[in-house]
Amino acid sequence: METNKKRLVILGAAESGVGAALLGNQQGWDVFVSDGGTIKPQFKAALLDNGITFEEGGHTEQNILNADCVVKSPGIPDKAAIVKHIREKGIEVCSEIEFGFRYKGDSKIIAITGSNGKSTTTKLTWHILKTAGYDVAMVGNIGRSFALQIFEKPCEWYVIEVSSFQLDDIHQFRPDIAVLLNITPDHLDRYNYVFDNYVASKFKITQNQQPDDCFIVNSDDPAITNYLSTHSIHAKTVFFTMDENKIHDDGAFVNKDYLHINFEGDEMKTSVHDLTIKGKHNQYNSMAAGISGRAAHIRKEKIRESFESFEGLEHRLEYVATVRGVEFINDSKGTNVNSVWFALESMTKPVILLLGGQDKGNNYQEIEGLVREKVKAIVCLGVHNEPIHEFFDNIVPSIVDTTSAKDAVHAAYALADKGDVVLLSPACASFDLFKNYEDRGQQFKDAVRSL
Ligand code: ADP
Repeated sequence: METNKKRLVILGAAESGVGAALLGNQQGWDVFVSDGGTIKPQFKAALLDNGITFEEGGHTEQNILNADCVVKSPGIPDKAAIVKHIREKGIEVCSEIEFGFRYKGDSKIIAITGSNGKSTTTKLTWHILKTAGYDVAMVGNIGRSFALQIFEKPCEWYVIEVSSFQLDDIHQFRPDIAVLLNITPDHLDRYNYVFDNYVASKFKITQNQQPDDCFIVNSDDPAITNYLSTHSIHAKTVFFTMDENKIHDDGAFVNKDYLHINFEGDEMKTSVHDLTIKGKHNQYNSMAAGISGRAAHIRKEKIRESFESFEGLEHRLEYVATVRGVEFINDSKGTNVNSVWFALESMTKPVILLLGGQDKGNNYQEIEGLVREKVKAIVCLGVHNEPIHEFFDNIVPSIVDTTSAKDAVHAAYALADKGDVVLLSPACASFDLFKNYEDRGQQFKDAVRSL
């Protein structure tokens, strides 16, 4: 260990951890990376190529507790023993976006968080800036880490998808433009099952903002309005809503199929039919991205053009195929109850719903009404389907259990009539049966295509 350098320890050697390690190394820290599991070959190669020392398969405390700063992967919970020991010693713990922030120079940041819609809104916002010719990178949960981008190719603008876990360990992180899309129960296992803790964590996105920064927030969300009624915000706050009456000055709303964005005395309007992404939730996402674009001084014409040319993301209400009159939709990224609500809300045909997986403490009450109205059968796709049976057995006439995407697709197809839609929108994480939600969505699509 070199004594004249400050010591940076990285816990977790995946996308964000390795990004922080490379950036830290470049910035003159003495870097050590520790991963409790196995490090993927591509990450290991990056560390070796840059001469960064690391360990895997466990954490050696003597090489960690001498750190000046620890960057913790968002996947490692505070209850992990190593994190407890680090905090007990009073060592600074920060998340990768916090670490990246310190080296961002004069560049500008648009940071986007929420329980649902982060990736879609991040990509759309990036698309708006790109269409307007900005030097911009899309980073964070959606792909390359913020720190890695700064290490490899600094840009003038960053659009960052930010999770609540990343926000838990920020200190100075201050976006020029922050977006809070919505807050509904998710990941409660990480917040001691206290919803208010999760809400507070989401609001950290604006905690360091100043009056010349912009905070764009959904005013139809009860958790958000509740919080705002008892807390003050330093940034210029701009709302988006479905209710025109809530907007008096700057803000966005939808009225009679037109999406309006008012910003600094300038008004723009676009037909919702011209948006390439469908559903009410995507109108919210478009409003948030559109205001962000205006706050980044992008012309109205460019924003409109971007709305019309945007290609949505895979696994989010993605049309797969129609097989003998039965339509199949892949919404594998619908990993919580609220996203299933929006998926069901946008359905116009009778639904066979593929539900299940790793339950994060779901309360299905929120979708009960829509399920009664639109769902004729549920196909469970998970190892433990008891909570689904418990809630829906007396509500939905037919519920079957399956444990593979192929069986689920076959069961759904058998239950469907011509004119129905089979919707995979599971409300749960995928890790019980699949590698991740992409794997689940891909296996679903493969099974549909081989029907
Ligand atoms: P995230 O990155 O926050 O997980 P995504 O854009 O990947 O969000 O979308 C995740 C799921 O949530 C998809 O099923 C999508 O259809 C749904 N969704 C997208 N935007 C919203 C929104 N604003 N409100 C509720 N659900 C949404």
